[in-house]
Amino acid sequence: MTAAMKTTMTAAARSRAAAWLPGLAMLGTFAALTWLETRRPLRRTVEPKGRHVARNLAIAGLSAATIRALEKPVVEPLAARVDRHGWGLLPRLGLPKPVETAVAVVLLDYTLYIWHVLTHRMPLLWRLHRIHHMDLDLDTSTALRFHAAEMALSVPWRAAQVVLIGVRPDALSRWQTLTLLSILFHHSNLRLPVEVERWLTRVIVTPRMHGIHHSIVPEETGSNWSSGLSLWDRLHGTLTLNVLQDAIVIGVPEVRDAEQVTLGRALAMPVTGPAPTGRLPDGRRPSRSARPVPETRLLA
Ligand SMILES: [Zn+2]
Repeated sequence: MTAAMKTTMTAAARSRAAAWLPGLAMLGTFAALTWLETRRPLRRTVEPKGRHVARNLAIAGLSAATIRALEKPVVEPLAARVDRHGWGLLPRLGLPKPVETAVAVVLLDYTLYIWHVLTHRMPLLWRLHRIHHMDLDLDTSTALRFHAAEMALSVPWRAAQVVLIGVRPDALSRWQTLTLLSILFHHSNLRLPVEVERWLTRVIVTPRMHGIHHSIVPEETGSNWSSGLSLWDRLHGTLTLNVLQDAIVIGVPEVRDAEQVTLGRALAMPVTGPAPTGRLPDGRRPSRSARPVPETRLLA
């Protein structure tokens, strides 16, 4: 075997290993967080853990298949074209490669913030995104619980992100891996020391911060939309930090019963589910009465 062949084979083996790394990191993070949250839970849970995780993984399997079938064949070739033809904003700026990749990741994170706001504000998208929110417990498995139709409708947005920002393939895959790791972390039901989260929320989204977004109180759901950097909520004035986790009821107001969130019902929910009224089954609108939060438990 020639030296050149050896080098090519080593490079091929290295690139195969590199392709597996994000998946391994994702699986490892999922398993570690799922185990840790049984040891140090942040919020009380209402459903048996096994049933809850199995159902969310089934919903996740359908959305992963949808992403593979619809998003991947559109978005990856677009990123390759950005690379070849210099489409979009960033390639025109002539930035050094690592800077361009970092800026691309930040801009993808910001435009994901906007998409998340739209999934709550546009009635059709909310009917789909509500499946993610109606989970009665919030844990690492909730991070993957998205209705396949929401994934399908996000393809044009993702394509526009790539083409307008000018996202090359390596920046796209870095952002995908970082976002996945970030959403696994901030959906987790893991109790970190409050002082650790106080520091982390200055930069990234944390479990307590995102727990507030999953509250049934509309003003709280209408805050903390960021998925990676917490900066976007700070800039838009949509950051809420000081709500105690044990005072939060997770879910959406109109779906309060475990019987309503079985796998079949969850998948059919966009069509057959109760109208998204923002009201509890008894007609009341959830609200939070001001309760002083001890300073030691404040996040900000
Ligand atoms: Zn949301």
